[in-house]
Amino acid sequence: MIGHRMPESLDLIGSIEPKLQQVFMTNNRVLISASSGTGFMEGAIRNCVGKKVLNCVNGAFSDRWRQVTEANGKANEVLEVEWGQPILPDMVVERLASGEFDAVCLTQNETSTGVLTPIKEIATAVRALPGGNEIMILVDAVSGLAGARLEFDAWDLDVVLTSSQKAFALPAGLAFAAVSDRAMEKAKNVPNRGYYFDFLTLDKSLQKNQTPATPAISLLYALDQQLTDMMDEGMDNRYARHLAMRDRTIAWAKERGFEIFATPGYESPTVTCVNNNLNIDIPALNQHLRSYGMIISNGYGAKLKNKTFRIAHMGDLQMDDMEELFAAIDEFLA
Ligand SMILES: *Cc1c(COP(=O)(O)O)cnc(C)c1O
Repeated sequence: MIGHRMPESLDLIGSIEPKLQQVFMTNNRVLISASSGTGFMEGAIRNCVGKKVLNCVNGAFSDRWRQVTEANGKANEVLEVEWGQPILPDMVVERLASGEFDAVCLTQNETSTGVLTPIKEIATAVRALPGGNEIMILVDAVSGLAGARLEFDAWDLDVVLTSSQKAFALPAGLAFAAVSDRAMEKAKNVPNRGYYFDFLTLDKSLQKNQTPATPAISLLYALDQQLTDMMDEGMDNRYARHLAMRDRTIAWAKERGFEIFATPGYESPTVTCVNNNLNIDIPALNQHLRSYGMIISNGYGAKLKNKTFRIAHMGDLQMDDMEELFAAIDEFLA
């Protein structure tokens, strides 16, 4: 292991940072932390909320924004739609129009329901509000980023965070957050930002290719290589590969008589949530799949368990992997 103040470590972060910026499609800083993504959710709330935040909830992970907000004692309101449905621009700006809010929390890809949030359209609508430029747009992109297109700069976002273990297809233990200059300015005037996720400290260290506390050095080596592989594939090709796997998964499910849980038009590029309308035994299916070294996910939480199941098509998975999975599920169904 190299020491995190040694030149080798500075070179490593120096190699990682420009590639991370390409994945986030930004010229802004992308902070790195030795935590999972939830750490940066806490960081975003603590650094960027002074008055009141609107938590947009349409599933279990977007509800985590609400929980993190409330656990940190910040004032909030909740915009909730039925699980499976998308959060839409009109709903968001209608609530923000009161002028009481200085932040809004969104979830790019609701992993529990397989619903993609129209982040670009929501951000455009928010910025068009009177005072809309002062509203912090905070996006959890944990299961979406690097699989589903997101353009941090072009869409004018303030914080976009993700973890290493989902669409980045890396070991768990790293989190990344792109942060706008506007968010950095805001943070200067927000008290009690905490210590570990203080954006000002993290940014200051990053300018020297360092982190304030010890980073997860071994994981950074894996990240550096994975980012190079992503650049080699090309982000546009990567997004297209995910969409093709999504479309094939939906087609396969429908051919077998299953329905898709997400509202049509908002199906996630990285995970498909399938209605278990054929009442298959999901634990038994997984036992069958395990014999081939594969596994899918049951529905998330008490609300969706056994009523839905989820098929991931993210990260390094290829169409051949999907075909192998579908063949094994078909064998079980037969
Ligand atoms: C997995 C997930 C999380 C939690 O991320 P951790 O890295 O486990 O903290 C948050 N949001 C979404 C959308 C997720 O899919």
